[in-house]
Amino acid sequence: MNELVIDLEAEKKEILKRYRALLRACKPTMQKGDKKMIRRAFDMALESHQDMRRKSGEPYIYHPIAVAQIAAEEIGLGTTSIVCALLHDVVEDTDITLEDIEREFGKKTAKIIDGLTKISGVFDYNSSLQAENFRKMLLTLADDVRVILIKLADRLHNMRTMDFMPRDKQLKISSETVYLYAPLAHRLGLYTMKSELEDLSMKYMEPETYKSIARQLNEKRVERENFIRDFIEPINEILTEQGLKADIYGRPKSINSIWSKMRKKNIPFNEVYDLFAIRIILDSKPENEKSDSWKAYSIVTDLYRPNPDRLRDWISSPKANGYESLHTTVMGPRGQWVEVQIRTRRMNEIAEKGFAAHWKYKEASADSGLDQWIHKIRELLNNPEANALDFLDDFKMNLFSDEIFIFTPKGALIQLPINATALDFAFEIHTDIGAKCIGAKVNHKLVPLSHKLQNGDQVEIITSSKQTPKEDWLSFVVTAKAKSKIKSALKEEKRKIAEDGKEILERKLKSLKITYNSDNLYKLTYYFKLPSTQDMFYNVAKGIIDLKQLKEFAASEKVVENKPEKIEPIPIENFLKKAKGKDSDTLLIGEDLQKIDYKLSTCCNPIPGDDVFGFVTVSDGIKIHRTNCPNAAKLMANYGYRIVKAKWDSQKELAFLTGLRIRGIDDVGLINSITTVISSDFKVNMRSITVDSYEGIFDGSIMVFVNDTEHLDSLIGRLKEVKGVTSVTRFDSPDGSMEKAS
Ligand code: MN
Repeated sequence: MNELVIDLEAEKKEILKRYRALLRACKPTMQKGDKKMIRRAFDMALESHQDMRRKSGEPYIYHPIAVAQIAAEEIGLGTTSIVCALLHDVVEDTDITLEDIEREFGKKTAKIIDGLTKISGVFDYNSSLQAENFRKMLLTLADDVRVILIKLADRLHNMRTMDFMPRDKQLKISSETVYLYAPLAHRLGLYTMKSELEDLSMKYMEPETYKSIARQLNEKRVERENFIRDFIEPINEILTEQGLKADIYGRPKSINSIWSKMRKKNIPFNEVYDLFAIRIILDSKPENEKSDSWKAYSIVTDLYRPNPDRLRDWISSPKANGYESLHTTVMGPRGQWVEVQIRTRRMNEIAEKGFAAHWKYKEASADSGLDQWIHKIRELLNNPEANALDFLDDFKMNLFSDEIFIFTPKGALIQLPINATALDFAFEIHTDIGAKCIGAKVNHKLVPLSHKLQNGDQVEIITSSKQTPKEDWLSFVVTAKAKSKIKSALKEEKRKIAEDGKEILERKLKSLKITYNSDNLYKLTYYFKLPSTQDMFYNVAKGIIDLKQLKEFAASEKVVENKPEKIEPIPIENFLKKAKGKDSDTLLIGEDLQKIDYKLSTCCNPIPGDDVFGFVTVSDGIKIHRTNCPNAAKLMANYGYRIVKAKWDSQKELAFLTGLRIRGIDDVGLINSITTVISSDFKVNMRSITVDSYEGIFDGSIMVFVNDTEHLDSLIGRLKEVKGVTSVTRFDSPDGSMEKAS
């Protein structure tokens, strides 16, 4: 008894300590009366969460305090947001109502908390409509950006404190984070937060790789710090000589960005040269910002030779999320490329705190990139026909892409994502211009619709009243706006054709003496393997399904006895029951990890020892994917409710198929040496082997059966020792096939 009392006392002290730290973080933006208001919000949160605890056992109130602190310190938000952050979970989790909040803190605060409560469904793992939730979230974004900023702070704190969560939840939350929240943070200019979110996700999704890169980074730390010191010293000297004040430091790249580089270039850690970037942060008067930055650039490039292809000037044309900086890559003293980022203190704050800092410096003006972006989201969301999942895909594509700037014939500037085509530009100007576009003049030269635009092009669109949107347009447009407009136009067109098809089908069935009713329509749709009856009508109207095929259907109907099973997602519980008892020995699936039937997905070919999860498919049972499968994040973020936990049991002598890519110097005996190692030394079965050889370079893909990752690793190690072999890597899928969600 006594002990418990002491614990509570200590906790009370700790809560107050954390609260005071929060107040200190709020200071820069605090005005008269704000302190009282924050106190009232804190008291309300403390009281309403008083009996609640987090999974870690800590008092729940630690969480809202931490979220508020992130909002203040890392995003730079003001008092209203701090109040909302403190109260962000009360309406959802306690007896306090929105009315209570409005009475105490006013309309604005109540509205933001309402937004936060509405989108909390994104965390509901039973929800089947993650994408729809995301759409809702963007709707509130269009209302008040602070809702999203606080949500990001909430997510960041949850990611930082996820150790006590069960493994499957860690995976789901992490994938959602990589899939949605990190891109959103990026788009809102919160670069530091974006990197941390990605690193934390990687820590849970690929713990081994994460740890190994972190360890290697640490091993090279001293060497790196010495290099940075030597590199910076002469720059510092000359900057001071020329009267420029600046902070210069080396900033390590995030673990996740190093990992994606290793994968993209297929190189080991020690071949990644840019493990850090040099930052020069200038103290400049507002009127000297640009000239000071270029002065610094000139000093750096006098000392070190720049790579002319790697100069990026985001000071003259800032990115749409407000980012301003000058980037260059120069040859360092030891013959290695070094990235240098030059910016002023104001630009740096924008780069780190994003949106909020942007607003602090620049009065909200209609032509800022961010404002245009939010305007675009609003437009997209107003399109009632857009399918939530499609929308999400298109939208995501636009989150990460860099911009190019295109001029209209009258000289107005339009921002488009990189790789945008003339048709994207047309849709950007107006939906009708896009729909009627037949070509364009780029810098006065005639080009097709699919022509990719370059930064600085001047574009004039040519239209025709006879033009209508075509299916193949979707293959080359990149903006979410053009995609969704084309899709809804095509849908409308298809709907009209399908209406005619319905009448035709009715007549044809009559002539075959088949009753026209929903049951038979369903059978027909199933027979022709079409996704909907509308597609059935459409195919009939287009003559793709003709009388002859309908006759074949009629004939087949007589032999088919069983009604086709209706295709719809199967609840996981039923599935587990159904599959239970079937024989399989090496994988345990589900909450209580039972032995049930599964298939290994072909997109990532998991083998024992890999980190895996199960995905309940519509027609093909449970499929097992590696947690680092290229499709994993998408599956988990969109169909979180279909994810089941999976773990390898004792590893038996079962063989699993996996791919090895072997490169080397072509030599008469090389193939023989390789196959000897595989089949004689290791007694491993090969299923296929393909070899390309050009200009003395050997490039082979071999599919082999191995027992587990350990077995695979030792085989790879041994193959690397073969004379002439330069690299051996595992690859996921022999044909690069992508797994469909259903
Ligand atoms: Mn929360």
